[in-house]
Amino acid sequence: MRYLPVFLDLQTGLVALVGQGELARAKLRVLVAAGARIRWHATDSEHDVQGLEPAQLARIEFAKGDPLAADLTGVVAVFCAGAGDVGVAMSARAKSVGLPVNVMDDLAHSTFIFPAIVDRGDVVVAIGTGGTSPVVARRVREKIEAVLPARIGDLARFIGRFRKSIHARIPEMPLRRRFWERVIDGPIGALVLSGHKDDAEAALNKIADASAFASGKAQGVAQGHVTLVGAGPGDPDLLTIKALRALSDADVVFYDELVSSEVLDRIRRDAARVPVGRRVGKPGIGQEAINQLMIAAAQSGQRVVRLKGGDAFVFGRGGEEVEALRQAGVSYSIVPGITAAIGAAAQFEVPLTFRRKALRISFLTAHKADDADLVDWSTLTDTQMTVVVYMGMTAAPSVRDGLLAAGRSPETPVGVFARVTRPDAKAAVGTLEQLPDLVASVDGGPAILIIGDVVAHSAPWRRQNPNLTLSDILEAAQ
Ligand code: SAH
Repeated sequence: MRYLPVFLDLQTGLVALVGQGELARAKLRVLVAAGARIRWHATDSEHDVQGLEPAQLARIEFAKGDPLAADLTGVVAVFCAGAGDVGVAMSARAKSVGLPVNVMDDLAHSTFIFPAIVDRGDVVVAIGTGGTSPVVARRVREKIEAVLPARIGDLARFIGRFRKSIHARIPEMPLRRRFWERVIDGPIGALVLSGHKDDAEAALNKIADASAFASGKAQGVAQGHVTLVGAGPGDPDLLTIKALRALSDADVVFYDELVSSEVLDRIRRDAARVPVGRRVGKPGIGQEAINQLMIAAAQSGQRVVRLKGGDAFVFGRGGEEVEALRQAGVSYSIVPGITAAIGAAAQFEVPLTFRRKALRISFLTAHKADDADLVDWSTLTDTQMTVVVYMGMTAAPSVRDGLLAAGRSPETPVGVFARVTRPDAKAAVGTLEQLPDLVASVDGGPAILIIGDVVAHSAPWRRQNPNLTLSDILEAAQ
């Protein structure tokens, strides 16, 4: 390591910026974001400010005259960007008066280098490569951006607000450190990171005996947290960043049968994995038992993940689980997932809506033939509505009969999309009349049915009907 990263307090003085053009403006934007007041010496004396907002401009002082002769009193650092030879001369001048100076892309004339920055408010990460490769620095930054929660800065600020009072309540340093570790790793930290600062504050204020809390002996303080995570339709790369984080922090994961093994591979190695879903031929343990398991695990202080296929709130009984967690007073947060319909739409290029043609979407479930019997098909005959059926394989004949009886055209394009986003995904497209045959041709589930003219835009339809124009199809379906 040749360069020591330090954080310069830009409230203590002015920053001098020498240069012109987009390079100078880019630097201005970074410096303004860092709260700096900037004296800008434009080397083309134009001060071209295109693209800068009024609030940014308010922090900039437009200097006149030769920067090499300018007064540097009150200046804490000098930046040169797009300044050419003037930058080199300015560097000599700054060095002669002991000011730190950076000349962009010119290590030889710089006394400090500018890092790549991950900015989360009070939490800032600076990445340097000793000036060797900005591209490598950017890649590292992308990786850190992906793992650092967006609200980590809020968490730092939250703790900052309570630091003094906790210091007074727990004078012993090691115990105080444990107190904050418990706050950060437990439900209070999770609440701040999920945007519930008020609840976090209430929970912190409820801690009657801070020392007992710090040593883990506090009574009645729920320590654990449940995260309901949508696992998506199968492809682990479709997990959200939040989902990945929850999986890598979990102590125990309760998962459904639809969660793919590739997604399960992303769970922290030491976490307990508990299947709680229905298996083929075997009933599951039941919703009530799942609720009790989650609640008990959270109350014993564990970080619990409830992992569900697709999204928890789309035919995933997430609503019932949240009710149970609320009633038990267990802290929880919810991470959305890509629901099967959206996975199918992306993989097989089915636009679920289409300008002027498909204006509405209905998601419904037809688990069993009698479920299908309960559906009021007359509400689904609108040709501008795309109908998406979950759990509809067995009931496919009833779905078809119901829609036909209600008046939807037998020529309506339909698609059966099986195991979407998984390596063995398969699609079958055709007309409403053929729906049960299409279901039979995809070699098993899980599969989603999409019914509506939009299916005629899908990739499999286009492959199957290369000579048909869209208007042919739409006319036939009217
Ligand atoms: N919460 C889930 C749905 C659970 S209901 C979600 O948001 O996707 C189970 C039904 O979802 C299955 O019967 C099937 O219709 C659909 N499904 C789930 N995963 C699927 C996949 N990979 N491919 C196709 N359909 C899927």
